[in-house]
Amino acid sequence: MEFKPELSVNQSVVINSKHRVELVVKREDLIHPIVSGNKYHKLKFNLEEAIKRNFNTILTFGGAYSNHIAAVAKAGRIYGLKTIGIIRGEELRDHVATNPTLQFAHQSGMQFEFVSREMYRKKNTEEFITTINSKFGEVYILPEGGTNTLAVEGCEGILTDEDKDFDYVCCPVGTGGTISGVINCSKPSQQVLGFPALKGSFLKEDISKFANKENWKLILDYHFGGYAKINTSLISFINQFKKEQNIPLDPVYTGKMMYGIFDLIEKGYFSQNAKILAIHTGGLQGIDGMNLKLKAKGWPLLD
Ligand SMILES: *Cc1c(COP(=O)(O)O)cnc(C)c1O
Repeated sequence: MEFKPELSVNQSVVINSKHRVELVVKREDLIHPIVSGNKYHKLKFNLEEAIKRNFNTILTFGGAYSNHIAAVAKAGRIYGLKTIGIIRGEELRDHVATNPTLQFAHQSGMQFEFVSREMYRKKNTEEFITTINSKFGEVYILPEGGTNTLAVEGCEGILTDEDKDFDYVCCPVGTGGTISGVINCSKPSQQVLGFPALKGSFLKEDISKFANKENWKLILDYHFGGYAKINTSLISFINQFKKEQNIPLDPVYTGKMMYGIFDLIEKGYFSQNAKILAIHTGGLQGIDGMNLKLKAKGWPLLD
């Protein structure tokens, strides 16, 4: 089967603020429903490399609602590669049918190996990798979140010539691979702002390893308490944004970034008449899983 990614488009956002700025969303979420946004860019060179080196299996790691797990499962199916997911949390073994992400990955042919959180923490050790290789044979290993040199190179294709006049480029941050690629293809005159979706001081170092310029900064105020943590004001922001702008956002990454951008605009953070480009990195498959959690808590749902 051949993979035909759709082109992304730049879509303007209507801003109601006394501060005059222009905000445009780069709709990378439109590339593919699952292999969307940054995951498409992060996977493409890795899958080509795996095929070139005659691997027939991709093995990777992730949590219960991981966009990366869903994307690897689907991309593997498209490229004719087997996929194995090392999933964090042994208890999930009994919940595949009720977890939308795992259910989707399973239906796309991914084989799961559920491990305890303690085991999962050791995933980058030599010992763990040796165990994997003796259990699964020769497999192409992608790290959690998919960040490696080839992934960063893939993300260097995110900004194109039409984006060169933006003053600011905003990007959600998980492991930092995506923003590294974005920094590398930005103009030195542009300022790249990263919005981490989690707490953690390691990110700055990780990005510095891959980034070839220093025109970037992390905005640390919009993680909402940590990875996949949300609150009702974020939920209502995402729902309102979708209604007003006709752009769906995911609750883990792009919703937090956009909430942050709107807040910074309100606070007058950006220069007058600044042109801001926000990268929609996709992740919309995670909405169903988040809604199941919200429903269980009796919270309002994402539309
Ligand atoms: C995985 C993901 C990110 C984080 O990308 P990193 O390269 O790990 O920083 C951002 N946004 C979405 C929607 C994602 O799925």
